[in-house]
Amino acid sequence: MYFNEDHDALRRTIRKVVDTEINPNMDAWEETTAPLHDLFKKMGDLGLLGICYDPAYGGQGLDYWFDTAFLEEIGHIQGVGVQGAIADQTHMATPALHQFGSEGLKDAYLRPAIAGEMVAAIAVTEPDAGSDVAGLRTTAKKDGDAYVLNGTKTFITNGVQADFVVLLARSCEEPGYHSFSLFVVPKGLPGFSVSKELDKLGWKSSDTAELFFDDVRVPEENRIGDEGEGFIYQMKQFQHERFAALPMSYVGAKDVIDMTVEYIQQRVVFGKPLSKRQVLRHRIADWLTEIECLKQLTYHIVRMKMEGLDVTREVSMGKLISGQMMKRITDGCLQMYGGMGFMNETLITRYYRDVRAASIAGGADEVMREVIARMEGV
Ligand SMILES: Cc1cc2nc3c(=O)[nH]c(=O)nc-3n(C[C@H](O)[C@H](O)[C@H](O)COP(=O)(O)OP(=O)(O)OC[C@H]3O[C@@H](n4cnc5c(N)ncnc54)[C@H](O)[C@@H]3O)c2cc1C
Repeated sequence: MYFNEDHDALRRTIRKVVDTEINPNMDAWEETTAPLHDLFKKMGDLGLLGICYDPAYGGQGLDYWFDTAFLEEIGHIQGVGVQGAIADQTHMATPALHQFGSEGLKDAYLRPAIAGEMVAAIAVTEPDAGSDVAGLRTTAKKDGDAYVLNGTKTFITNGVQADFVVLLARSCEEPGYHSFSLFVVPKGLPGFSVSKELDKLGWKSSDTAELFFDDVRVPEENRIGDEGEGFIYQMKQFQHERFAALPMSYVGAKDVIDMTVEYIQQRVVFGKPLSKRQVLRHRIADWLTEIECLKQLTYHIVRMKMEGLDVTREVSMGKLISGQMMKRITDGCLQMYGGMGFMNETLITRYYRDVRAASIAGGADEVMREVIARMEGV
């Protein structure tokens, strides 16, 4: 209803990359993490890293339906680590740069990110501040024509391989939401180091870093938009990140179900295939219904985005549902595999590990509930 042959053509291009360049390598990348410079260059050459971005910077200038088609196809990647690494580049680290960055910043960082020549990361979370973003401690003190950064960022997706991070820091001592600024901080600046590569439960194909900033001098022109508006820009940027989770989730969940159905159709227990057991068939029917609900909510959000409406309430609801749903479905599907579901040779184990982060990263379920309750006047 919402997609035509132009969307299908885009889907075919992405699916080819997923089927030939990504999924065949996923087992290896779970051991080593995906080589993002190589992968992003291939995707950039095909115009896949800036679907909605301005053609003036190499983007495709397409609308949110194309973006949704892109995310749905990325959802077929058999590992949330690489899905997350790509979404980081397209929906987490670059939207504020695109919307509020100066021409100079966009030329220097957005253009190469869209071309796949630079890897981007978003650095908000700190050891002492995650859900409570306004509690972050990294400081950006003005000194002449530069800001001096001091602090630590953690859980940063793509942080090891990134050429630059978009970083939120406190640029003024005053309390309140207008005390933060967002900066583009290139690797290689003196005092900027990857202090730790973090070992994780899942997302093994993606690198996650702790970053340390010790008197890092960032030129004033690397500030995105106005001083003091960084928190507001980041809250807007979060809506892109959280939206991206929705199509990837319902597509990934459906793939997990398809894979499981294939297994239970051939697995004979007590004289007949497991797929003939009504209790399992009904459980799957429930999941497919949930998936359809999330998909329709997502399409509703896209229609709202196309009208220029604020989607914070609906995106928060979708993000909350998607995390809950992914955990329930992968756990239930793993159960249907029996002992095979516990063996790492079975792909379901990767999904089981990977989806746990969906209720934490980019805003935990409880934070989504707070946003929803507040917006509903509760
Ligand atoms: C795989 C992965 C990738 C990530 N990538 C990035 C990245 O690229 N960049 C980045 O900046 N960050 C990233 N993060 C960090 C992520 O956004 C934070 O982990 C998340 O916001 C939660 O913050 P926290 O870990 O500090 O948990 P805390 O803030 O310490 O919260 C702990 C738990 O408390 C509960 N909680 C929080 N608030 C409330 C509340 N108001 N009421 C009730 N319960 C509550 C939640 O269950 C939460 O999980 C990533 C995290 C993961 C797991």
